[in-house]
Amino acid sequence: MIDIIVVGGGHAGCEAALAAARLGKQTLLITGNFDMVASMPCNPSIGGPAKGTLVREIDTLGGEMAKVADKTCLQMKMLNKSKGPAVWALRAQSDKRLYSKTMLQTLKSTDNLDLLEIYACDLLETDGIITGVRTKDKTVYHAKKVILSTGTFMEAKVLIGHEVIHEGPDKQKPSHGISARLRAFGFKTMRLKTGTPPRIKTESVDFSKMKLSPGDGFIYHFSHDPTHLRVLDKEWPCYLIHTDQNTHEIVLDHLQDSAMYGGQVEGVGPRYCPSFEDKLVRFSDKKRHQLFIEPESAEIDELYLQGFSSSMPRDVQKDMVHSLPGFKNAVIAKYAYAIEYDAIDPRQLWPSLESKITEGLYLAGQVNGTSGYEEAAAQGLIAGINAARALDKKEPLVLRRDEAYIGVLIDDLITKGTKEPYRMLTSRAEFRLLLRHDNADKRLMDKGHAIGLLEDHMYEAFKEKQTTIKAETKRLKNTYVTPTEKVNARLENDGYAPLKKKTSLHGLLKRPKIAYSYALRLIGEEPVLPDAISEQIKIQATYQGYIKKALKNAKKMKKDEAIRLPADLDYDKVDNIANEARQKLSEVRPLTIGQAMRISGVNPSDVQMVLVHLKKNNLR
Ligand SMILES: Cc1cc2nc3c(=O)[nH]c(=O)nc-3n(C[C@H](O)[C@H](O)[C@H](O)COP(=O)(O)OP(=O)(O)OC[C@H]3O[C@@H](n4cnc5c(N)ncnc54)[C@H](O)[C@@H]3O)c2cc1C
Repeated sequence: MIDIIVVGGGHAGCEAALAAARLGKQTLLITGNFDMVASMPCNPSIGGPAKGTLVREIDTLGGEMAKVADKTCLQMKMLNKSKGPAVWALRAQSDKRLYSKTMLQTLKSTDNLDLLEIYACDLLETDGIITGVRTKDKTVYHAKKVILSTGTFMEAKVLIGHEVIHEGPDKQKPSHGISARLRAFGFKTMRLKTGTPPRIKTESVDFSKMKLSPGDGFIYHFSHDPTHLRVLDKEWPCYLIHTDQNTHEIVLDHLQDSAMYGGQVEGVGPRYCPSFEDKLVRFSDKKRHQLFIEPESAEIDELYLQGFSSSMPRDVQKDMVHSLPGFKNAVIAKYAYAIEYDAIDPRQLWPSLESKITEGLYLAGQVNGTSGYEEAAAQGLIAGINAARALDKKEPLVLRRDEAYIGVLIDDLITKGTKEPYRMLTSRAEFRLLLRHDNADKRLMDKGHAIGLLEDHMYEAFKEKQTTIKAETKRLKNTYVTPTEKVNARLENDGYAPLKKKTSLHGLLKRPKIAYSYALRLIGEEPVLPDAISEQIKIQATYQGYIKKALKNAKKMKKDEAIRLPADLDYDKVDNIANEARQKLSEVRPLTIGQAMRISGVNPSDVQMVLVHLKKNNLR
């Protein structure tokens, strides 16, 4: 008997299958097309604001995305370096073909994992418990747990102007039958939409009309194990251009011909990743919009126009493209399109990502209403870990909002739900100062190790790093600089305020502009520790006050999270709460008081009444 079946080999399915198999479960990954495993139908990149930190967190828990992103990058760039570390975000320009091949290779070389290239077309259950999957060739595969990660494929429809094409991304076949089965099980589904820009033949554009957008070379890496980073002789360049009124007029003159504004589109699109026509309508005061021109793969001589996704008719797309600087003679290799697909309302899931409706059925990725490779991979990892832990009768892994962006992601989905494709943003995380790129290991590696998915050598390196950070911080706190004439002359010469009194080096690092290496050289020492360590020490010293405040707030939230709520609490029996709150609490079935407080429409007074009810009925 198969332990776990994963349906769909996208970013979610790959992480889920690898986690389940690596935790010793007999796992079968069923996916429609091996060549499109972990494919990137949209932007050929991994990471960026908030998403980059998700990738770091996946790595700390033993996931795969960070390693594959490092092995297949064309360019690496740390975004927002001029701002505070809470918003530093690593972004890899990925070779999307190599990414997919590398992930497929990893899947094929994993023990306990079998792969099957076919479409699943039905889910099987008995008395509300999942029992297996039926594939297109009518074969039935039974399993104890099933993880559904069918992405943007369920009843997918591509829209280009007035054209409606029943296909999935990149001309793949759509998935039929599964969302109907989910509705038959009792799931609420919704229609969502996303879109992608045109792809342009590389040799048909004039790069001299564009501004180079270089990376940082190959110094930064997603995985905490730096050995996965491939270092190319030369990074692949990206370019930057701006649109102008001419392009805008072409679009605005044909707005009604777009699938979006022509009324073809039924699904709801992502507010934070709007189509170009949407941008022109929503930000009509903007005179120009920036577009990034990105390579897709060493194997594909096509360019990706980031920021130019559209559902305009093909002939209008041609005019739009030809109006761009450097694109006068551009050849469109693939036209932009919008795609609609079925997804479920994620409030029908427990924090483990198991469904509340069909026991043993887990859902992960775009099917839960999110958008983005990183968001999908994070959910896949959690679903894979929790399906395996359920088989071992172990508590599910549930991350809190102050521990991880993954915790924010899943809590937002299951508590607030989403009406449009949900994309992770730093602004969604109230504890974002605690959830940084640089400290993902400190936040989560002990958990990754305890689960048994994190490689031992990574855990040992982490432990060593923590010991070194502790020892060096202590040393800096006990090493002083005295305000001699020479020291103050140097400080003033370098544009810093002179010292008034004897100060520890750690104290000096509290000054935002003073770097760790500078402080050491002030006392004639040369820095020897690796950047990852000195950076940590610097951030902890500079942001000590803010971090302390955030930790205090997190402590209060933890207290509310510690008050458990019975999953089967009858809210009809709770006195004096508003009808809307009663309805929402019965729908979401929060497992903690903290989660109840985050449900929109549930007020603090309602939560008080629930606490009174728990006490009165000895449920607490
Ligand atoms: C056109 C387009 C534009 C996008 N634009 C953006 C964007 O701008 N920004 C952004 O963040 N994200 C964007 N995305 C979303 C991004 O691609 C997804 O978020 C991400 O790929 C989701 O990963 P996933 O694993 O959930 O699903 P997918 O990557 O969609 O993978 C699903 C996998 O399941 C397989 N499958 C599906 N149904 C079945 C079945 N019945 N049986 C067997 N196998 C099946 C498919 O073959 C595929 O391999 C876009 C997606 C598309 C299609």
